[in-house]
Amino acid sequence: MHGRNVLISGAGIAGPTLAYWLHRYGFHPTVVERAPEPRSGGHAVDIRGTARQVAERTGIVDQVRRARTGARGMAFIDHTGKRVATMSTEVFGDSGGPVAEMALLRTDLARILYERTRGDVEYLFGDSVTAVAQDDTGVRVEFAHAPARQFDLLIGADGVRSTVRRLVFGADERYIRDLGSYICLFTTPTTVDLDGWQLMYTMPAGHGRPGRTAGLRPRSEPGTAVAGFFLRSAPLSYDRNDLDEQKRIVLRAFGGDGWEIPRILPAIWDTPDFYFDRVHQIEVPGWSRGRTALLGDAGYCASPMSGIGTSLALVGAYVLARELAAADGDHRRAYPAYEREMREFADRAQEFARSSGDGGLMPASRAQLWLRNGSVRLLPYLPKRLVGRGMDKLSTTVELGDSPALIH
Ligand SMILES: Cc1cc2nc3c(=O)[nH]c(=O)nc-3n(C[C@H](O)[C@H](O)[C@H](O)COP(=O)(O)OP(=O)(O)OC[C@H]3O[C@@H](n4cnc5c(N)ncnc54)[C@H](O)[C@@H]3O)c2cc1C
Repeated sequence: MHGRNVLISGAGIAGPTLAYWLHRYGFHPTVVERAPEPRSGGHAVDIRGTARQVAERTGIVDQVRRARTGARGMAFIDHTGKRVATMSTEVFGDSGGPVAEMALLRTDLARILYERTRGDVEYLFGDSVTAVAQDDTGVRVEFAHAPARQFDLLIGADGVRSTVRRLVFGADERYIRDLGSYICLFTTPTTVDLDGWQLMYTMPAGHGRPGRTAGLRPRSEPGTAVAGFFLRSAPLSYDRNDLDEQKRIVLRAFGGDGWEIPRILPAIWDTPDFYFDRVHQIEVPGWSRGRTALLGDAGYCASPMSGIGTSLALVGAYVLARELAAADGDHRRAYPAYEREMREFADRAQEFARSSGDGGLMPASRAQLWLRNGSVRLLPYLPKRLVGRGMDKLSTTVELGDSPALIH
Protein backbone atom coordinates (compact mmCIF):
# COMPACT_ATOMS: atom_id res chain seq x y z
CA MET A 1 0.00 0.00 0.00
CA HIS A 2 1.47 3.34 -1.10
CA GLY A 3 0.78 6.75 0.44
CA ARG A 4 -2.67 8.16 -0.22
CA ASN A 5 -2.40 11.85 0.59
CA VAL A 6 -2.82 13.73 -2.66
CA LEU A 7 -2.61 17.48 -3.18
CA ILE A 8 -4.56 18.74 -6.20
CA SER A 9 -3.86 22.30 -7.36
CA GLY A 10 -6.96 23.84 -8.96
CA ALA A 11 -10.69 23.60 -8.17
CA GLY A 12 -11.90 24.06 -11.76
CA ILE A 13 -13.37 21.04 -13.54
CA ALA A 14 -10.59 18.42 -13.44
CA GLY A 15 -9.46 19.02 -9.84
CA PRO A 16 -12.76 18.39 -7.99
CA THR A 17 -13.63 15.48 -10.33
CA LEU A 18 -10.32 13.82 -9.49
CA ALA A 19 -10.88 14.57 -5.79
CA TYR A 20 -14.33 12.95 -5.93
CA TRP A 21 -13.02 9.71 -7.41
CA LEU A 22 -9.87 9.57 -5.28
CA HIS A 23 -12.02 9.86 -2.17
CA ARG A 24 -14.27 7.06 -3.37
CA TYR A 25 -11.17 4.88 -3.85
CA GLY A 26 -10.04 5.54 -0.28
CA PHE A 27 -7.44 8.28 -0.94
CA HIS A 28 -7.26 11.56 1.03
CA PRO A 29 -7.36 14.44 -1.46
CA THR A 30 -6.74 18.09 -0.59
CA VAL A 31 -7.60 20.73 -3.19
CA VAL A 32 -5.89 24.13 -3.17
CA GLU A 33 -7.59 26.87 -5.24
CA ARG A 34 -6.19 30.33 -5.86
CA ALA A 35 -9.60 32.04 -6.02
CA PRO A 36 -10.97 33.02 -2.61
CA GLU A 37 -14.27 31.17 -3.21
CA PRO A 38 -16.16 29.32 -5.96
CA ARG A 39 -16.81 31.97 -8.62
CA SER A 40 -19.81 32.71 -10.84
CA GLY A 41 -20.15 34.01 -14.40
CA GLY A 42 -17.79 33.38 -17.29
CA HIS A 43 -18.01 31.20 -20.38
CA ALA A 44 -20.10 28.14 -21.19
CA VAL A 45 -18.59 24.67 -21.54
CA ASP A 46 -19.79 21.42 -23.09
CA ILE A 47 -19.98 17.87 -21.74
CA ARG A 48 -19.69 15.45 -24.64
CA GLY A 49 -19.37 11.74 -25.40
CA THR A 50 -17.55 9.75 -22.72
CA ALA A 51 -17.51 12.79 -20.42
CA ARG A 52 -21.31 12.45 -20.14
CA GLN A 53 -20.73 9.00 -18.65
CA VAL A 54 -18.22 10.50 -16.20
CA ALA A 55 -20.87 13.06 -15.21
CA GLU A 56 -23.40 10.23 -14.74
CA ARG A 57 -21.02 8.11 -12.64
CA THR A 58 -20.08 11.18 -10.59
CA GLY A 59 -23.79 11.65 -9.84
CA ILE A 60 -24.08 15.23 -11.11
CA VAL A 61 -26.26 14.85 -14.21
CA ASP A 62 -29.44 16.22 -12.59
CA GLN A 63 -27.65 19.33 -11.34
CA VAL A 64 -25.93 19.76 -14.71
CA ARG A 65 -29.25 19.54 -16.52
CA ARG A 66 -30.80 22.11 -14.19
CA ALA A 67 -27.88 24.50 -14.85
CA ARG A 68 -27.89 24.08 -18.63
CA THR A 69 -27.73 27.28 -20.62
CA GLY A 70 -30.44 25.72 -22.79
CA ALA A 71 -28.78 27.14 -25.90
CA ARG A 72 -30.73 26.22 -29.02
CA GLY A 73 -27.82 26.76 -31.37
CA MET A 74 -25.65 29.36 -33.04
CA ALA A 75 -26.86 31.89 -35.60
CA PHE A 76 -24.59 33.96 -37.81
CA ILE A 77 -26.08 37.38 -38.45
CA ASP A 78 -25.35 40.41 -40.60
CA HIS A 79 -24.79 43.99 -39.44
CA THR A 80 -28.55 44.55 -39.11
CA GLY A 81 -29.01 41.46 -36.90
CA LYS A 82 -30.68 39.44 -39.70
CA ARG A 83 -29.83 35.73 -39.54
CA VAL A 84 -27.77 34.63 -42.53
CA ALA A 85 -26.93 31.05 -41.45
CA THR A 86 -27.93 28.96 -38.42
CA MET A 87 -26.69 25.80 -36.70
CA SER A 88 -29.27 24.36 -34.33
CA THR A 89 -28.23 21.85 -31.65
CA GLU A 90 -30.76 19.41 -33.16
CA VAL A 91 -28.79 19.19 -36.40
CA PHE A 92 -25.72 17.91 -34.57
CA GLY A 93 -27.19 15.51 -32.02
CA ASP A 94 -26.22 15.51 -28.35
CA SER A 95 -22.45 15.91 -28.50
CA GLY A 96 -21.40 16.85 -31.99
CA GLY A 97 -22.01 20.54 -32.66
CA PRO A 98 -20.49 23.85 -31.63
CA VAL A 99 -22.98 23.94 -28.74
CA ALA A 100 -23.55 20.54 -27.07
CA GLU A 101 -26.89 19.55 -25.59
CA MET A 102 -25.20 19.44 -22.16
CA ALA A 103 -23.77 22.97 -22.02
CA LEU A 104 -23.53 25.09 -18.87
CA LEU A 105 -21.37 27.86 -17.41
CA ARG A 106 -17.91 26.64 -16.42
CA THR A 107 -18.34 28.20 -13.00
CA ASP A 108 -21.69 26.39 -12.51
CA LEU A 109 -20.04 23.05 -13.34
CA ALA A 110 -17.13 23.83 -11.00
CA ARG A 111 -19.62 24.76 -8.25
CA ILE A 112 -21.64 21.56 -8.77
CA LEU A 113 -18.45 19.49 -8.49
CA TYR A 114 -17.36 21.42 -5.40
CA GLU A 115 -20.75 20.86 -3.72
CA ARG A 116 -20.52 17.16 -4.57
CA THR A 117 -17.14 16.83 -2.81
CA ARG A 118 -16.98 19.46 -0.08
CA GLY A 119 -18.05 17.09 2.73
CA ASP A 120 -15.35 14.54 1.90
CA VAL A 121 -12.49 16.61 0.54
CA GLU A 122 -10.34 19.27 2.19
CA TYR A 123 -10.45 22.56 0.24
CA LEU A 124 -7.97 25.41 0.72
CA PHE A 125 -9.39 28.46 -1.05
CA GLY A 126 -7.42 31.66 -1.60
CA ASP A 127 -4.05 29.91 -1.62
CA SER A 128 -1.46 28.60 -4.08
CA VAL A 129 1.51 26.28 -4.22
CA THR A 130 4.74 28.34 -4.29
CA ALA A 131 7.48 25.69 -4.07
CA VAL A 132 7.71 21.94 -4.61
CA ALA A 133 10.47 19.51 -3.58
CA GLN A 134 9.97 15.81 -4.26
CA ASP A 135 12.02 12.73 -3.44
CA ASP A 136 11.50 9.01 -2.75
CA THR A 137 9.54 9.72 0.40
CA GLY A 138 7.02 12.28 -0.85
CA VAL A 139 6.37 15.83 -2.07
CA ARG A 140 7.03 18.78 0.21
CA VAL A 141 4.85 21.72 -0.80
CA GLU A 142 5.06 25.32 0.30
CA PHE A 143 1.99 27.55 0.04
CA ALA A 144 1.55 31.31 -0.23
CA HIS A 145 -0.45 31.30 3.05
CA ALA A 146 -0.86 27.85 4.66
CA PRO A 147 2.10 26.24 6.42
CA ALA A 148 4.28 23.88 4.33
CA ARG A 149 3.03 20.27 4.16
CA GLN A 150 4.16 16.87 2.97
CA PHE A 151 2.00 14.88 0.52
CA ASP A 152 2.47 11.58 -1.29
CA LEU A 153 1.42 12.90 -4.70
CA LEU A 154 0.86 16.28 -6.36
CA ILE A 155 -1.50 16.89 -9.29
CA GLY A 156 -1.45 20.10 -11.33
CA ALA A 157 -5.06 20.72 -12.40
CA ASP A 158 -4.55 24.47 -12.31
CA GLY A 159 -5.36 25.38 -15.89
CA VAL A 160 -3.54 26.75 -18.92
CA ARG A 161 -1.10 28.82 -16.86
CA SER A 162 -0.52 26.06 -14.33
CA THR A 163 1.74 26.97 -11.41
CA VAL A 164 2.54 23.30 -10.76
CA ARG A 165 3.67 22.92 -14.37
CA ARG A 166 5.90 26.00 -14.11
CA LEU A 167 7.44 24.87 -10.81
CA VAL A 168 8.01 21.22 -11.75
CA PHE A 169 8.18 21.08 -15.57
CA GLY A 170 9.61 24.51 -16.45
CA ALA A 171 8.64 27.83 -18.06
CA ASP A 172 5.29 28.23 -19.88
CA GLU A 173 7.00 29.13 -23.18
CA ARG A 174 8.24 25.55 -23.57
CA TYR A 175 4.70 24.20 -23.64
CA ILE A 176 2.53 26.85 -25.30
CA ARG A 177 1.58 26.56 -28.98
CA ASP A 178 0.22 29.85 -30.28
CA LEU A 179 -2.95 29.64 -32.40
CA GLY A 180 -2.87 33.23 -33.66
CA SER A 181 -5.86 34.98 -32.08
CA TYR A 182 -7.38 36.52 -28.96
CA ILE A 183 -10.67 35.89 -27.15
CA CYS A 184 -12.44 38.34 -24.90
CA LEU A 185 -15.56 37.44 -22.91
CA PHE A 186 -17.60 39.36 -20.38
CA THR A 187 -21.11 39.44 -18.95
CA THR A 188 -23.18 42.31 -20.23
CA PRO A 189 -26.74 43.58 -19.90
CA THR A 190 -28.59 43.37 -23.20
CA THR A 191 -31.99 44.17 -24.64
CA VAL A 192 -31.48 41.76 -27.56
CA ASP A 193 -33.99 38.90 -27.35
CA LEU A 194 -31.68 35.91 -27.87
CA ASP A 195 -34.46 33.36 -27.42
CA GLY A 196 -31.85 30.72 -26.54
CA TRP A 197 -29.63 31.43 -29.55
CA GLN A 198 -25.99 32.40 -29.61
CA LEU A 199 -25.68 35.24 -32.14
CA MET A 200 -22.40 35.84 -34.00
CA TYR A 201 -21.58 38.80 -36.22
CA THR A 202 -18.45 38.17 -38.31
CA MET A 203 -16.43 40.77 -40.20
CA PRO A 204 -13.86 39.61 -42.76
CA ALA A 205 -10.35 41.09 -42.92
CA GLY A 206 -10.12 44.26 -45.01
CA HIS A 207 -9.19 47.97 -44.93
CA GLY A 208 -6.19 47.14 -42.75
CA ARG A 209 -8.32 45.37 -40.12
CA PRO A 210 -8.19 41.64 -39.31
CA GLY A 211 -11.01 39.07 -39.48
CA ARG A 212 -13.10 39.24 -36.30
CA THR A 213 -16.40 38.25 -34.68
CA ALA A 214 -18.52 39.73 -31.93
CA GLY A 215 -21.29 37.66 -30.36
CA LEU A 216 -23.83 37.28 -27.59
CA ARG A 217 -24.51 34.00 -25.79
CA PRO A 218 -27.60 33.52 -23.60
CA ARG A 219 -27.35 33.33 -19.81
CA SER A 220 -29.97 32.01 -17.43
CA GLU A 221 -30.48 35.49 -15.89
CA PRO A 222 -32.88 37.37 -18.19
CA GLY A 223 -31.61 40.67 -19.62
CA THR A 224 -27.98 39.55 -19.50
CA ALA A 225 -25.72 37.72 -21.95
CA VAL A 226 -22.09 36.70 -22.34
CA ALA A 227 -20.48 38.99 -24.90
CA GLY A 228 -17.68 37.38 -26.91
CA PHE A 229 -15.05 39.03 -29.10
CA PHE A 230 -12.75 36.97 -31.33
CA LEU A 231 -9.84 38.67 -33.05
CA ARG A 232 -7.12 37.39 -35.39
CA SER A 233 -3.90 39.15 -34.41
CA ALA A 234 -0.15 38.77 -34.05
CA PRO A 235 0.87 38.65 -30.36
CA LEU A 236 0.37 42.07 -28.73
CA SER A 237 2.49 43.32 -25.89
CA TYR A 238 0.48 44.30 -22.81
CA ASP A 239 0.58 43.93 -19.05
CA ARG A 240 -1.34 40.76 -18.06
CA ASN A 241 -2.30 42.41 -14.77
CA ASP A 242 -3.60 45.60 -16.37
CA LEU A 243 -7.24 44.83 -17.26
CA ASP A 244 -7.91 48.39 -18.41
CA GLU A 245 -5.16 48.10 -21.01
CA GLN A 246 -6.70 44.81 -22.24
CA LYS A 247 -10.14 46.41 -22.41
CA ARG A 248 -8.73 49.23 -24.52
CA ILE A 249 -7.30 46.64 -26.97
CA VAL A 250 -10.81 45.22 -27.46
CA LEU A 251 -12.36 48.69 -27.80
CA ARG A 252 -9.79 49.63 -30.47
CA ALA A 253 -10.24 46.38 -32.38
CA PHE A 254 -14.06 46.58 -32.53
CA GLY A 255 -14.62 50.34 -32.36
CA GLY A 256 -16.82 51.59 -35.21
CA ASP A 257 -18.23 48.12 -36.00
CA GLY A 258 -21.96 47.62 -36.52
CA TRP A 259 -24.81 45.48 -35.14
CA GLU A 260 -25.13 45.72 -31.32
CA ILE A 261 -21.39 46.32 -30.82
CA PRO A 262 -21.66 50.03 -29.92
CA ARG A 263 -24.17 49.11 -27.18
CA ILE A 264 -22.24 46.08 -25.86
CA LEU A 265 -18.75 47.56 -25.70
CA PRO A 266 -19.33 50.24 -23.00
CA ALA A 267 -20.38 47.45 -20.58
CA ILE A 268 -16.78 46.26 -20.66
CA TRP A 269 -15.97 48.87 -17.96
CA ASP A 270 -18.57 47.61 -15.47
CA THR A 271 -18.58 43.87 -16.06
CA PRO A 272 -18.00 41.56 -13.07
CA ASP A 273 -16.02 38.96 -15.06
CA PHE A 274 -13.76 40.28 -17.82
CA TYR A 275 -11.67 37.63 -19.62
CA PHE A 276 -9.03 38.36 -22.27
CA ASP A 277 -6.35 35.95 -23.42
CA ARG A 278 -4.45 34.59 -26.35
CA VAL A 279 -5.75 31.36 -27.87
CA HIS A 280 -3.24 28.59 -27.43
CA GLN A 281 -2.70 24.91 -26.81
CA ILE A 282 -0.62 23.30 -24.10
CA GLU A 283 1.64 20.52 -25.33
CA VAL A 284 3.66 18.70 -22.68
CA PRO A 285 5.62 15.69 -23.99
CA GLY A 286 5.28 13.65 -20.77
CA TRP A 287 2.59 14.45 -18.21
CA SER A 288 4.47 13.36 -15.07
CA ARG A 289 7.73 14.08 -13.29
CA GLY A 290 8.34 11.90 -10.25
CA ARG A 291 5.36 12.18 -7.92
CA THR A 292 3.78 15.07 -9.84
CA ALA A 293 1.36 14.77 -12.77
CA LEU A 294 -0.59 17.22 -14.92
CA LEU A 295 -4.31 16.98 -15.58
CA GLY A 296 -6.78 18.80 -17.85
CA ASP A 297 -5.84 22.15 -19.42
CA ALA A 298 -2.59 22.25 -17.40
CA GLY A 299 -1.28 19.26 -19.36
CA TYR A 300 -3.21 19.19 -22.62
CA CYS A 301 -5.38 22.23 -23.32
CA ALA A 302 -6.76 21.80 -26.85
CA SER A 303 -7.86 25.46 -27.27
CA PRO A 304 -10.73 27.43 -25.70
CA MET A 305 -12.43 27.37 -29.11
CA SER A 306 -12.30 23.60 -29.60
CA GLY A 307 -15.36 22.82 -27.44
CA ILE A 308 -13.70 19.66 -26.12
CA GLY A 309 -11.57 20.95 -23.18
CA THR A 310 -14.12 20.22 -20.48
CA SER A 311 -14.65 16.69 -21.74
CA LEU A 312 -10.89 16.13 -21.71
CA ALA A 313 -10.73 17.41 -18.13
CA LEU A 314 -13.58 15.19 -16.90
CA VAL A 315 -12.40 12.02 -18.63
CA GLY A 316 -8.75 12.68 -17.69
CA ALA A 317 -9.68 13.05 -14.01
CA TYR A 318 -11.70 9.84 -14.04
CA VAL A 319 -8.92 7.87 -15.75
CA LEU A 320 -6.18 9.23 -13.48
CA ALA A 321 -8.14 8.31 -10.33
CA ARG A 322 -8.92 4.88 -11.75
CA GLU A 323 -5.25 4.17 -12.55
CA LEU A 324 -4.08 5.38 -9.13
CA ALA A 325 -6.60 3.08 -7.48
CA ALA A 326 -5.68 0.14 -9.73
CA ALA A 327 -1.98 0.67 -8.89
CA ASP A 328 -2.76 0.98 -5.18
CA GLY A 329 -1.33 4.50 -5.20
CA ASP A 330 1.95 3.56 -6.90
CA HIS A 331 2.51 6.59 -9.14
CA ARG A 332 5.30 4.82 -11.08
CA ARG A 333 2.67 2.47 -12.51
CA ALA A 334 -0.36 4.75 -12.41
CA TYR A 335 0.99 7.86 -14.18
CA PRO A 336 2.26 6.03 -17.31
CA ALA A 337 -1.01 4.05 -17.47
CA TYR A 338 -3.03 7.31 -17.24
CA GLU A 339 -0.97 8.85 -20.03
CA ARG A 340 -1.24 5.74 -22.24
CA GLU A 341 -5.00 5.79 -21.84
CA MET A 342 -5.49 9.56 -22.37
CA ARG A 343 -2.74 10.47 -24.85
CA GLU A 344 -4.64 9.55 -28.00
CA PHE A 345 -7.71 11.55 -26.92
CA ALA A 346 -5.58 14.60 -26.05
CA ASP A 347 -3.54 14.42 -29.28
CA ARG A 348 -6.64 13.97 -31.44
CA ALA A 349 -8.38 16.86 -29.65
CA GLN A 350 -5.40 19.14 -30.33
CA GLU A 351 -5.25 18.03 -33.95
CA PHE A 352 -9.01 18.64 -34.27
CA ALA A 353 -8.61 22.14 -32.78
CA ARG A 354 -5.79 23.00 -35.20
CA SER A 355 -7.55 21.64 -38.27
CA SER A 356 -10.88 23.32 -37.50
CA GLY A 357 -8.93 26.55 -37.01
CA ASP A 358 -10.98 29.48 -35.78
CA GLY A 359 -14.31 27.91 -36.81
CA GLY A 360 -14.76 30.56 -39.50
CA LEU A 361 -14.92 33.35 -36.92
CA MET A 362 -11.96 35.33 -38.30
CA PRO A 363 -12.14 35.05 -42.09
CA ALA A 364 -9.30 36.46 -44.17
CA SER A 365 -11.65 37.68 -46.94
CA ARG A 366 -15.28 38.24 -47.97
CA ALA A 367 -15.03 35.07 -50.06
CA GLN A 368 -14.10 33.02 -46.98
CA LEU A 369 -17.01 34.46 -45.04
CA TRP A 370 -19.37 33.69 -47.92
CA LEU A 371 -18.07 30.09 -48.04
CA ARG A 372 -18.53 29.68 -44.29
CA ASN A 373 -22.13 30.87 -44.38
CA GLY A 374 -22.84 28.73 -47.43
CA SER A 375 -21.54 25.56 -45.80
CA VAL A 376 -23.46 26.25 -42.58
CA ARG A 377 -26.68 26.64 -44.62
CA LEU A 378 -26.05 23.22 -46.18
CA LEU A 379 -25.77 21.40 -42.83
CA PRO A 380 -29.49 20.55 -42.33
CA TYR A 381 -29.55 18.92 -45.77
CA LEU A 382 -26.58 16.61 -45.18
CA PRO A 383 -27.21 13.03 -43.95
CA LYS A 384 -27.52 13.12 -40.13
CA ARG A 385 -24.79 10.50 -39.70
CA LEU A 386 -22.22 12.85 -41.32
CA VAL A 387 -22.95 16.05 -39.38
CA GLY A 388 -20.90 16.52 -36.22
CA ARG A 389 -19.42 13.06 -36.67
CA GLY A 390 -15.83 14.27 -36.15
CA MET A 391 -16.66 15.68 -32.71
CA ASP A 392 -18.82 12.66 -31.79
CA LYS A 393 -16.00 10.25 -32.61
CA LEU A 394 -13.41 12.42 -30.90
CA SER A 395 -15.40 12.73 -27.69
CA THR A 396 -15.73 8.95 -27.39
CA THR A 397 -12.04 8.15 -27.95
CA VAL A 398 -11.70 6.77 -24.40
CA GLU A 399 -13.90 4.01 -22.98
CA LEU A 400 -14.34 4.12 -19.22
CA GLY A 401 -14.50 0.38 -18.52
CA ASP A 402 -15.21 -0.95 -15.03
CA SER A 403 -13.96 0.96 -12.03
CA PRO A 404 -11.77 -0.70 -9.38
CA ALA A 405 -13.40 -1.52 -6.03
CA LEU A 406 -14.81 1.57 -4.32
CA ILE A 407 -14.18 2.21 -0.65
CA HIS A 408 -16.84 4.94 -0.15
C1 LIG B 1 -12.77 31.70 -23.13
C2 LIG B 1 -12.93 30.23 -23.02
C3 LIG B 1 -13.98 29.58 -23.67
C4 LIG B 1 -14.13 28.20 -23.57
N1 LIG B 1 -15.18 27.60 -24.19
C5 LIG B 1 -15.35 26.26 -24.03
C6 LIG B 1 -16.48 25.60 -24.62
O1 LIG B 1 -17.30 26.20 -25.30
N2 LIG B 1 -16.61 24.26 -24.40
C7 LIG B 1 -15.71 23.54 -23.65
O2 LIG B 1 -15.91 22.33 -23.44
N3 LIG B 1 -14.64 24.14 -23.11
C8 LIG B 1 -14.43 25.46 -23.29
N4 LIG B 1 -13.35 26.07 -22.72
C9 LIG B 1 -12.32 25.24 -22.08
C10 LIG B 1 -12.68 24.82 -20.67
O3 LIG B 1 -13.04 25.93 -19.86
C11 LIG B 1 -11.45 24.11 -20.08
O4 LIG B 1 -10.97 23.14 -20.98
C12 LIG B 1 -11.80 23.44 -18.76
O5 LIG B 1 -12.28 24.40 -17.85
C13 LIG B 1 -10.55 22.75 -18.23
O6 LIG B 1 -10.73 22.38 -16.89
P1 LIG B 1 -9.50 22.37 -15.90
O7 LIG B 1 -10.06 21.96 -14.58
O8 LIG B 1 -8.37 21.64 -16.50
O9 LIG B 1 -9.00 23.89 -15.83
P2 LIG B 1 -9.80 25.15 -15.31
O10 LIG B 1 -11.26 24.97 -15.45
O11 LIG B 1 -9.15 26.31 -15.98
O12 LIG B 1 -9.49 25.19 -13.74
C14 LIG B 1 -8.23 25.52 -13.25
C15 LIG B 1 -8.42 26.05 -11.83
O13 LIG B 1 -7.13 26.24 -11.26
C16 LIG B 1 -7.14 27.46 -10.54
N5 LIG B 1 -5.77 27.91 -10.42
C17 LIG B 1 -5.01 28.52 -11.34
N6 LIG B 1 -3.78 28.76 -10.83
C18 LIG B 1 -3.77 28.27 -9.57
C19 LIG B 1 -2.81 28.21 -8.55
N7 LIG B 1 -1.59 28.71 -8.73
N8 LIG B 1 -3.14 27.64 -7.38
C20 LIG B 1 -4.39 27.13 -7.17
N9 LIG B 1 -5.35 27.17 -8.11
C21 LIG B 1 -5.04 27.73 -9.30
C22 LIG B 1 -8.04 28.38 -11.35
O14 LIG B 1 -8.53 29.44 -10.57
C23 LIG B 1 -9.13 27.39 -11.78
O15 LIG B 1 -10.15 27.33 -10.82
C24 LIG B 1 -13.18 27.45 -22.83
C25 LIG B 1 -12.13 28.09 -22.17
C26 LIG B 1 -12.00 29.48 -22.26
C27 LIG B 1 -10.87 30.14 -21.56
